[in-house]
Amino acid sequence: MQCGITDMTNHKAVKIQGRVQAYQWGGTNFLPELLGYTNPSQRPQAEYWLGAHPCAPASISGREIALGDFLSEQQAPPLQFLLKILDVRDMLSIQVHPNKEQAKAGFARENALGIALDAKNRNYKDANDKPELMVALSEFWLLHGFRPIAQIAELLENKSYLAPLRDILLKDGLAQAFAHALEFSSSATQTMQQTLAQELRDKSALDKNTPEFWIQRWLEKNPTVENGILTLYFLNLIKVEPGMAVYQPDGLLHAYLEGQNVELMANSDNVLRAGLTPKHIDVAELLSICTIEPSNPNDYVIHPEIMPNGERRFITPFTEFELAELNAQSQSVIEWDVTAPEIIFCYQGSATLNATLDLQKGESALLLPGEKIALHLQKDAILFKARNLP
Ligand SMILES: [Zn+2]
Repeated sequence: MQCGITDMTNHKAVKIQGRVQAYQWGGTNFLPELLGYTNPSQRPQAEYWLGAHPCAPASISGREIALGDFLSEQQAPPLQFLLKILDVRDMLSIQVHPNKEQAKAGFARENALGIALDAKNRNYKDANDKPELMVALSEFWLLHGFRPIAQIAELLENKSYLAPLRDILLKDGLAQAFAHALEFSSSATQTMQQTLAQELRDKSALDKNTPEFWIQRWLEKNPTVENGILTLYFLNLIKVEPGMAVYQPDGLLHAYLEGQNVELMANSDNVLRAGLTPKHIDVAELLSICTIEPSNPNDYVIHPEIMPNGERRFITPFTEFELAELNAQSQSVIEWDVTAPEIIFCYQGSATLNATLDLQKGESALLLPGEKIALHLQKDAILFKARNLP
């Protein structure tokens, strides 16, 4: 029997097809250009999912079988991650993810209360935590953890009408001030939000390194949603350069603001929101999940570690998964043994796997345990490899 290029008889390396998610905040051209399709209607194309998540599972090319079913058929372990490519045109909501115990307890509690899984006031969609890691593909802007208290006070100092918030911060501390910023029924909070919104609506050309730039951008798109805009004064605003990574542990407030990235996360949809959202904000639950103390984003920025085989690994404290970049600039042939399910995605250029499987820009493959890989990278090729950690 002949073994063709895509029909590999042992099925240990197969091409897969991911799924595009058309969320409203996405750009219109980046994913079509990357994946090689047209988007004549210019609908937002926000995320490309490569994984076994039941909402949008990848499928095996040339066979009508979902990735998860294929893994079971091959008696391989399930994926412990969801790999995504994101194109963020409009800001995502400020959010935090629970830890495992909080997710388990919250999921059970809301089930016991009879809150439907798709109800607007449902916080916990499953019983899992949601560690997240991202590698910037472009200059990438995000909010990440709380600023130092002195910095928050200085920002609030600039606006006389925010004095009530600054006074609480300096007298009662960060947690009290942050809770006050989220007290949407309080007339003091409403007045601060309204005055700020009014001032920013009238202003032009703000500096991208200031919270006001992003609050103004939010209000342009969402003129009626002021609840939560004060949160931006509390959070570190950072720009990640292409090729650099950053991760979000549970309890850390964050929001993606602009740019393209590769994101690797656990299979979970547990999100509590704190602003920049027309959706439900459960302030009490949010405050109980959030780590309300200043953090330094540099502690969460990751420089890739070059491994002996040439791959650039982004090492995090997460135990479920790992992400690596395979870059022709490091090495033109990268070899490894597959010991757990892996997905590789070709972001730029092209590469050939074991002299049989060609991966062009935008294509991806699933690799199963037991395979020995030699990946030949063409000049300029960049691929990403996600794998289960044992
Ligand atoms: Zn998140």
